[in-house]
Amino acid sequence: MGEYLKAAQGRMTRAAKLVGLDEEVVAHLENPIETLSASVNIRRDDGSALALKGWRCRYNSALGPTKGGIRFHPSVHLDEVETLAFLMTMKCALMGLPFGGGKGGVEVDAHDLSTMEKERVARGYVRAMAKILGPDRDVPAPDVATGEREMAWMVSEYSEIAGSIQPHAFTGKPVALGGMAGRTPATGRGAHIALEEMRDLVGLGEDGSLAIALQGFGNAGRWFAHAAEEAGHKIVAVADSSGTVSDSDGLDIDALAKAKDEEGKVTAYAGDGEGEGAQSSDDAEAVLTTECDVLVLAALGGVIADEDDAKVLKCKAIVELANRPVLPAADKALADAGIEVVPDILANGGGVTISHAEWVQGRQGIDWSADDVDDYLEDTMADAADNVREVMQDHDTDMRTAAYAVALKRLCAAISAHGTRA
Ligand code: GLU
Repeated sequence: MGEYLKAAQGRMTRAAKLVGLDEEVVAHLENPIETLSASVNIRRDDGSALALKGWRCRYNSALGPTKGGIRFHPSVHLDEVETLAFLMTMKCALMGLPFGGGKGGVEVDAHDLSTMEKERVARGYVRAMAKILGPDRDVPAPDVATGEREMAWMVSEYSEIAGSIQPHAFTGKPVALGGMAGRTPATGRGAHIALEEMRDLVGLGEDGSLAIALQGFGNAGRWFAHAAEEAGHKIVAVADSSGTVSDSDGLDIDALAKAKDEEGKVTAYAGDGEGEGAQSSDDAEAVLTTECDVLVLAALGGVIADEDDAKVLKCKAIVELANRPVLPAADKALADAGIEVVPDILANGGGVTISHAEWVQGRQGIDWSADDVDDYLEDTMADAADNVREVMQDHDTDMRTAAYAVALKRLCAAISAHGTRA
């Protein structure tokens, strides 16, 4: 078993013990059902051959078809994909969705590819993985450096291979191909709902404006920032790989998004117009040491990796909008510092929740209204938050352990009901 997966499972074991779950049943979650490693071979625009490494893991299907994103990133590897698929298993269970957990990835820097090369990678990935995919088997979605466009290429390739149109084989598609307008903002908006639901439990009181620092301004980070600003909170610092931009009076998120879209970096915001009064620095890590109420981690995994990383933080609470930004080795130091964490499986569960709505829409062949999508997101986030709150209070435990406990109770009930197969 890989190191990442082993570390992630330590948290599961702690939660299982806390609520007294049957060890033999929990043991079913120690290994993935299957992981396909395959070469994704494409031709570059100049005619040269490119062979990339790709993986797709179906971690556990006790609750339904496996579900989870596909990322394109140079740091992707087998252990990471399996760990993220394990987390998806916990996330789908916590959110009460009829899905198991899966994940996929290609070891590639998407910035190095032209649009046509990206299309070939997306289609090549589907050809390599088609045998384990399918609307009732394993349903991918966007993740780091993939979005609607990649899902469109993928569902088109998959339908071609399957010989029939399969809109619900992928989620996060463009609306023109059966996607939902609310899917793209759902992860960020869901994290804002989770923060509002849990703010009293992480020591931030029941209301009032919060000062928020945000690491990462991709899809999830940007939609979180819009939702938080609209609710009256101040986004006092935002970082991407170009650096950190900050303003203690609050950044203007529309103007920041415009700067990022036009110039490719958040630091382009500072200086003129809306950005007057903002400071910018090319230190992308500066966001982590910003004095604030909440630090939202919306970039990659492993940002707060150990005690030393935890010690320099100046926030009261963390929201894990990315997957696994806080590693288990930092848990104790954060607890000692009184920094409570809204864990990834709850904080970013809004994305897969609206993926579920999109999957149902594809099966039904009837479009959901925008209001129905909004209500589904709000109700599902609120229910998950309530369930976590109850376990936190009943067992006097931290939010992550409680979230795992809620997920595990559902998973273990399904695994036991399946008998030895699950
Ligand atoms: N990649 C997203 C996640 O980590 C979404 C997964 C999905 O919608 O299937 O939750």
